[in-house]
Amino acid sequence: MASHRPRVVVVGAGFGGMNAARALAKVPVDVLIVDQHNFHTFQPLLYQVATAGLAAGDIAHQVRGIFRRQRNVRFLMGRVVAVDWDVHEVALADGTRLAFDYLIVAAGAVYHDFGTPGVFDHGFVLKSLHEAVTLRSHMLRQFEQAAKDPEHLEHGGLTFVIVGAGPTGVEMAGALVELFDRVLPSDYPELDVGRAKVVLLEMMDTVLAPYGARSRAYAERVLRRRGVDLRLGTAVQEVHADHVVLAGGERLETRTLIWAAGIRGHPLAEVLGAPVGRGARVELERDLSLRDRPEAFVVGDMAGAVGEEATVFPQVAQVAIQQGKHAAVTIARRLRGEAGTTFRYADRGQMAIIGRSAGVAELSRRLGGFRFTGFLGWVSWLFIHLVYLPGHQNRVNAFTNWTVNFLTFERHARLILDTERPLEDRASRGTIEG
Ligand SMILES: Cc1cc2nc3c(=O)[nH]c(=O)nc-3n(C[C@H](O)[C@H](O)[C@H](O)COP(=O)(O)OP(=O)(O)OC[C@H]3O[C@@H](n4cnc5c(N)ncnc54)[C@H](O)[C@@H]3O)c2cc1C
Repeated sequence: MASHRPRVVVVGAGFGGMNAARALAKVPVDVLIVDQHNFHTFQPLLYQVATAGLAAGDIAHQVRGIFRRQRNVRFLMGRVVAVDWDVHEVALADGTRLAFDYLIVAAGAVYHDFGTPGVFDHGFVLKSLHEAVTLRSHMLRQFEQAAKDPEHLEHGGLTFVIVGAGPTGVEMAGALVELFDRVLPSDYPELDVGRAKVVLLEMMDTVLAPYGARSRAYAERVLRRRGVDLRLGTAVQEVHADHVVLAGGERLETRTLIWAAGIRGHPLAEVLGAPVGRGARVELERDLSLRDRPEAFVVGDMAGAVGEEATVFPQVAQVAIQQGKHAAVTIARRLRGEAGTTFRYADRGQMAIIGRSAGVAELSRRLGGFRFTGFLGWVSWLFIHLVYLPGHQNRVNAFTNWTVNFLTFERHARLILDTERPLEDRASRGTIEG
């Protein structure tokens, strides 16, 4: 018999969507989660897949598996392309239409090239598992090529350029120098791996801009000490297949540009018919619902300014988690005929690592305001990421791999797979066409 309970459609099984669906466990609704992938991706560890520390399967978990025990949740794999408000239906790229009473949109963000020519044609980004595996394969292929043809090294084949020294760029740079220093020399005895270079470009005059001065100075020191060619106050003007041009006109030969310079709201934001503000993020009522649509919510990286105060929250996992839960609680309140409440973010702090035994962790004031750098910062980061990584098996695998890596420098996932360039993944380029 068909259910007569209200149906909540959740778009996206990332941090926001997954936590919204979980928080609806005891609410008398039927939940349908729709995602273009059949798995949740733990994005903070994508760079470890790209640098061969973890396998792709270690940082992803099938959505059906996650909700196996939650009886009011169903999953459907598909790419959402539109919302028809007249009939309250979500449209998928393959033509399927899904009716909803309540809607939670949590499709995340896409990379933003800020108009820099060539970024999406020649560069790599890290947003999906496919992109992480493609980048890893591409980088390892450069070493295979250099082992065959010494000229490849002379023409920037082993120069790896990262743009953007936020947490992703810094973590990627730290992991790459370690891979080149400690792991690949024994794989490629015929090659002078010591000539492989990591260049980290940052337009601002600091790394990890949102962090405190002590953490920033520490991260900068460690990066330089470990051999990263860190260039602050340096912007990229053009990206080509075999070189990049910097703002001052300097030309850097490279076959690998990793773009970690900035994101914007997922293009689904533009089809919701709601006001879209800075960073292509949707402007919301104080309870995270859309203006004039109390039955629809946007959470996570897509969510923009909230309420009359226009409060903007950072595009991080904790915000997405807490907003997903808040949307679920608000739906429960609506069902009881109560008004929604203002979303308030409980900041817990921020952390990043710069490779082995080096990290920065800054707890928020409500958690004591403690700040750690060095080994303690690194261990805190590992611990928190293990706690939040979905799936027991994934946690065991990650813990085992990190322990083995710590003791032996082994990075077991040094596989070159025949993946296509990720540029087909249109989500990263900012379109929602199927
Ligand atoms: C490389 C990297 C490192 C990061 N490191 C950190 C970190 O260390 N700490 C931290 O707090 N945050 C980090 N973040 C940010 C954090 O991952 C995001 O803030 C968080 O994932 C946002 O959650 P979300 O639910 O809004 O979107 P996501 O988690 O991005 O989930 C969006 C989901 O929507 C799906 N989707 C997209 N489009 C469609 C569509 N059209 N139809 C159906 N499904 C769709 C996607 O497949 C995905 O599953 C990192 C992000 C990246 C990319």
